[in-house]
Amino acid sequence: MAKVALYIHIPFCVSKCHYCDFNSIGLGRSAAPEAEYVAALGREIGRWTEALAPAAREGFDTVFFGGGTPSLFAPESIATLLREARRLGPLESGAEVTLELNPKTAAPDKMRGFREAGCNRLSIGVQTLDERLLAELARAHDAADALQALEWAFAAGFERVSGDLMYGLPRQSLGHLEDTLHRLERFPLRHLSAYELIVEEGTPFYDRYLKGRLPLPETEEVLAMRERIAAFGRAKGMGAYEVSNYACAGHESRHNLHYWDYDSFVGLGAGAVSFLRASELNGETLNLLGVEPSPQLYGLRLANPRGLPEYGAGSGAWAGVEVEPIARTAACGEFMMMGLRKRRGIRFADFEKKFAAPFPALFREALDRARERGWVELEAGGARFTEEGMLFSNEVLREFLGESLH
Ligand code: SF4
Repeated sequence: MAKVALYIHIPFCVSKCHYCDFNSIGLGRSAAPEAEYVAALGREIGRWTEALAPAAREGFDTVFFGGGTPSLFAPESIATLLREARRLGPLESGAEVTLELNPKTAAPDKMRGFREAGCNRLSIGVQTLDERLLAELARAHDAADALQALEWAFAAGFERVSGDLMYGLPRQSLGHLEDTLHRLERFPLRHLSAYELIVEEGTPFYDRYLKGRLPLPETEEVLAMRERIAAFGRAKGMGAYEVSNYACAGHESRHNLHYWDYDSFVGLGAGAVSFLRASELNGETLNLLGVEPSPQLYGLRLANPRGLPEYGAGSGAWAGVEVEPIARTAACGEFMMMGLRKRRGIRFADFEKKFAAPFPALFREALDRARERGWVELEAGGARFTEEGMLFSNEVLREFLGESLH
């Protein structure tokens, strides 16, 4: 059985970016209530130590500090959290421990501190190196901060650094992107994440979009940007191992691969989501959560309250936690949805191992239909998207999974 992954959410940011709908609070001039939040996480860890069945306590091979902006916290807090997390199970030697870093919060001693605390991978939010675009996004940092953060990260000894980019930004041209990539050329990056901007409801960008004041690039230009990023990755030896992620061999995000492999994970913090098989929670906890184990039940998705006061007050117990039972049929579909995001696709044997059942004929038929359209390649032991299928992955998944699942 794959190890359970651990996610720790730090919901504070220097300021709120105009496109962001993550559960995070822009601090402005105030300081983050760091000690209180670390204490609340400690209480949540206590709750999980009682809830997890032995099957989920064999240890962790990945920990991901995400946000928000976890790099706002002092390295000592990160060290404390890693120490506390060991109450849930051992942290495997060589485990991948990632921290998301906003360039505005970078400093050489802090980066060294994160390494000493046990982090061995940084995910740096560069987004773009164009000052006007950064201002448009309302990022807290400028291009010089981002370049400096990359330099300090490598100087601090991090070998695993991801440069996180965005494209399809308002007023962004292919030229802007070329310039950003050109300036990243000199860094020994072996991982890139590149996400297309999605205009999310409830954000300032959404208001502008509704008022017709968000001049987004045309679809063709966005596709050209994506292709340009892929070409940059290829030139640096990075393959697209997932729809939006590129890495040199061995530098893939093992934590994110857990999500795409449909493995279990515990998410700690305000608004954090956990996903576990029913057998990974003890009977008493299932009872407390009002869940009746049954052969049709695969697992549970549990979402912590998003608000800080609610989270802080309830983190030691299950009050306010939203419970979503996941039926086996739904889980099979989710396995496909997540797995096909990976360049290597899905292996039928992995499905059979996870669900202790043969790969469904309905799925094989759906894959066949997608293959006829040139979207999927079938091999002896599995299936994966073609280049074309990858490009339109969301549509493809809807197209051939939608009908087969209902
Ligand atoms: S830094 Fe990240 S989490 Fe924070 S507001 Fe900006 S996009 Fe959202």
